[in-house]
Amino acid sequence: MKKAGLFDKTIHFLVHNSNFVTVMIMGMVHAVLLAIMLAVEVFPLVYFNILSVVVYLFCMVLCRTGHVLPVYVSIVAEVTAYTIISTYFIGLRCGTYCFLFSIVPIIIYLGCFLFKGKSRWHVLVLLIMNFGLFVYLYITFAQVRPVYDIPDVMKTTIVIFSSFVMVFSTVFYNAIYIYSSEGEVTNLEKENKQLTADASEDALTGMLNRRGFLPIVEKLMKEKGSAGFSIAFCDIDNFKRINDSYGHDGGDEVIRHITRIMNKEMNGCETCRWGGEEFIILMKGTGLEAAREKMESLRRAVEVSPTVFFNKRIPATITIGLGEFGDGIHTPEDIIKVADERMYYGKQNGKNIVIYEDH
Ligand code: GH3
Ligand code: MG
Ligand code: MG
Repeated sequence: MKKAGLFDKTIHFLVHNSNFVTVMIMGMVHAVLLAIMLAVEVFPLVYFNILSVVVYLFCMVLCRTGHVLPVYVSIVAEVTAYTIISTYFIGLRCGTYCFLFSIVPIIIYLGCFLFKGKSRWHVLVLLIMNFGLFVYLYITFAQVRPVYDIPDVMKTTIVIFSSFVMVFSTVFYNAIYIYSSEGEVTNLEKENKQLTADASEDALTGMLNRRGFLPIVEKLMKEKGSAGFSIAFCDIDNFKRINDSYGHDGGDEVIRHITRIMNKEMNGCETCRWGGEEFIILMKGTGLEAAREKMESLRRAVEVSPTVFFNKRIPATITIGLGEFGDGIHTPEDIIKVADERMYYGKQNGKNIVIYEDH
């Protein structure tokens, strides 16, 4: 667990500081080359490597201050100049042209970050120039004796080192790209989940809203061999009066409180906030008689449990209309209409009641 945490942290750091790390590594590469050139006493390249290290130190500062374009230009210019000069002084066989290939991922990724849309032709031009320079160096210096003829073992060392830098750069940049795009996908998925939840959930109660609820009923209706179900339409009685007496916040607290009772009493059922103070409960595999008993118990639970709001007890009751899935019911709206009409009948006949048949 601890290892994964450290790995994630390192990746996070590299992804968010890729430019800084790049120029730091390039500075280190030139420090190594500086030591090699000192060892073989190629002084023009010793001086050039000192200059390169200074350039990359300066680039580290530029990265910290957010000046990415000068860093990009410096990298391309420095590597181009270094490749030409080193090929001239120590020859093609030392393989320093590998540095040209090592900056290909930098030209692409950093270039595409800097240049967007049509201005990305800059990136393409740099890539063509980069490859053109390799071809030019190869043709020009293939038969030319270098200014310094360094020992074969050092030539091999430089070739291996330059090749390693080339491979490392490719792996490093691709890894950064993969991890950062995976991170973005994860973030997008999270946002998407949140948006979907927002779209199908009611913010005040956390219950499903119509959008989230109706497809569930629809699916249940289409299910072959489904054990049938009942629907309850619940409406808080005299809610306007509650709002008038205790304020809108008091009314909201009553809604939340009744929601909590519903979720507790109706464990295993789908509950939906249909509108202001109206709720619908879906009881899967429950016939009308069993549903009536459950609703009677819910009605009673609400009746005996007033909402406590700033030390005040707000009594509330609900009226419930019940409908059962069966003949003549083809859509969710059909069964909701039956339950709603029964609830309405209950409102006109004293409220705080469960109505389960037509009158
Ligand atoms: P009845 O017993 O017939 O259902 O009467 P009622 O007052 O409950 O019903 P009515 O439809 O007349 O009023 C409902 C009120 O609910 C009106 C509206 O201002 C209020 N309301 C709707 N949504 C919310 C809400 O989210 N929070 C609060 N506090 N009030 C709401
Ligand atoms: Mg209402
Ligand atoms: Mg009401």
